[in-house]
Amino acid sequence: MDFILNKSPNFSKRARSLKNIRFLIIHYTGMQSARVSMKKLKDPKSKVSCHYFIKRNGEIYRMVEDNKVAWHAGKSKWKDINDLNESSLGIEVQNKGHYIAYQNFPKKQIFSLIKLIKVLMKKYKIKKHNVLGHSDIAPLRKLDPGEKFPWDFLSSKGVAIWYPKLKIKNFDYKHEDRRKIFFKNIFKIGYRFLNLSKKSKNDPKLIKAFQRRFLPEEVSGKITDKTLKISHLLTK
Ligand SMILES: [Zn+2]
Repeated sequence: MDFILNKSPNFSKRARSLKNIRFLIIHYTGMQSARVSMKKLKDPKSKVSCHYFIKRNGEIYRMVEDNKVAWHAGKSKWKDINDLNESSLGIEVQNKGHYIAYQNFPKKQIFSLIKLIKVLMKKYKIKKHNVLGHSDIAPLRKLDPGEKFPWDFLSSKGVAIWYPKLKIKNFDYKHEDRRKIFFKNIFKIGYRFLNLSKKSKNDPKLIKAFQRRFLPEEVSGKITDKTLKISHLLTK
């Protein structure tokens, strides 16, 4: 696979064992242009970086070597893992993002990304359920890659998970505690930063993070029937 090198100095000096690479984390850049984004990702003062950067035209840049820990995830958790930087590769996908002007992801960009993910999954034996978005591992702080990111398409190419298209009969939650069931389900899926025992002001953020990933047409922050059903199907 061809990469354009554009090295960033922002990584932990100690090299890691390649066996530690278990996750791929997808980000969007959330900045005005590729030039501005890469400048920041290379600036020693910014203390942020990624391993791979995919431009809107599909070009792939390599910024940090795989055996180095790049600084892309920040405070993050997934299942029993804290600080995902140690065990992941970070892939930045160029997009202006929610705070500037959230864009659709061009086909060329997504095809390059899928190609890259396939190569990395094979190389490091990464499981498709460990291909995650930044908002999955930091749902209270992050929105990327967001509801326009085609997770269902990635899943159809075997590089991400999606829920099974099953009909659930007699799945009536009216008399049950919807909140409790939903949060139990997403905890089981891997989401953290949630309060299982009682309502929290963070609830809408967590619900939206889940919806951005699995129900992108309905980012409401409310536990609708469909939201609840999908959370249930994903635990299967
Ligand atoms: Zn990010």
